[in-house]
Amino acid sequence: MQKRIGIVGGGQLGRLIAIDAKKLGFTVNIIDPTPNSPAGQVADYQIVADYNDEKAIRELAKISDYLTFEIELANAEILDELSRKGLKINPSAKTLSIIKDKLVQKQFLKKAKIPVADFVEIDSKKEILQVAKKYGYPFLLKARFDAYDGRGNALITKESDIDNGVKKLQGRKLYIEKFVPFIKELAVMVGRNTKNEIISYPVVETIHKNNILHLLVVPAPIDSKIQIKAQRLAEKVMRQLKGAGMFGIEMFLLEDGKILINEIAPRVHNSGHYTIEATETSQFEQHARAIADMPFGSTKLKTPAAVMINILGERDGKAKQKGVAEAGKIPGVTVHIYGKLQTRKERKMGHLTAIGETIEEALKKAKKARKLITI
Ligand code: AMP
Repeated sequence: MQKRIGIVGGGQLGRLIAIDAKKLGFTVNIIDPTPNSPAGQVADYQIVADYNDEKAIRELAKISDYLTFEIELANAEILDELSRKGLKINPSAKTLSIIKDKLVQKQFLKKAKIPVADFVEIDSKKEILQVAKKYGYPFLLKARFDAYDGRGNALITKESDIDNGVKKLQGRKLYIEKFVPFIKELAVMVGRNTKNEIISYPVVETIHKNNILHLLVVPAPIDSKIQIKAQRLAEKVMRQLKGAGMFGIEMFLLEDGKILINEIAPRVHNSGHYTIEATETSQFEQHARAIADMPFGSTKLKTPAAVMINILGERDGKAKQKGVAEAGKIPGVTVHIYGKLQTRKERKMGHLTAIGETIEEALKKAKKARKLITI
């Protein structure tokens, strides 16, 4: 019988893992609340249920040899219980519970002597004012949970921004982070397999718009010493974390060459999508390999340069894709559409990667392709 991978979460990350896992010969089953989800469309079977639905996770566990997740919202307690009963779950539920809470994540990194921005837990407006005095403006008010794609951040540039920031993040547990005057944002995909081998991918430069990844360039246009430093730092983070799988490590590069860790994603990550076309093994295949007791493939770039651009929704309504075939005709451009039936402003609907001899060439092609697509 084919070995079975179960994935909690059926978005684009689950879809891209499922495609590569199936290439390796696995059967793939998933859980997602939306019927016909992006991953459900390519998996063998979808359980339609919430990521936290205990019964559904147990059902998925029964039909899985290896269980993994593509979202931090997954229920860490049940995953932990199932792993104690002997199911192979990766990354570990313990890691998930550390990373899920951004404050605990930062405390964990600080304790491991990994450089992060100054941060502090806060509970009331009074405490915010006290921290403002200590840190000065600007600073970031951040939600501890469910805060992906900047949905949990408020930039506070002056005292009168505080009330709006608190209102924006109402009802959520918060912490404050000092503003980092970075010159570039970098990211590195790292992974560990069940044989305890650690790999890292080339450093990418990420450019965000409205807190959402807009574009990335690889190799990052930075000094080779900084590239090595960023990769080593990502590997150091990986060594601190338990369990197997691919992880996305987001970083800030400062003017003096110092690197701070911004955030860890305990899963395959948007900043690794370029690996499908631009490296010898995609992050998605590596994830399947990592959790299923297989050795890793090569992480080497197989093109001098690549650029990835996200295709975000521009309106609310039914998705209607146009221009995908035409964009894909540009040599070196590959378009991925995730199969989401509804589009929303800023929703991740797809992405495209352009490879080239130089970053300039890849960027030109990627931008040209992006202009042709509407969804
Ligand atoms: P996050 O979701 O917390 O990773 O934040 C999303 C984006 O907000 C980051 O990619 C940065 O562009 C920006 N950001 C987050 N934290 C800070 C910080 N402490 N200082 C400056 N910019 C930040």
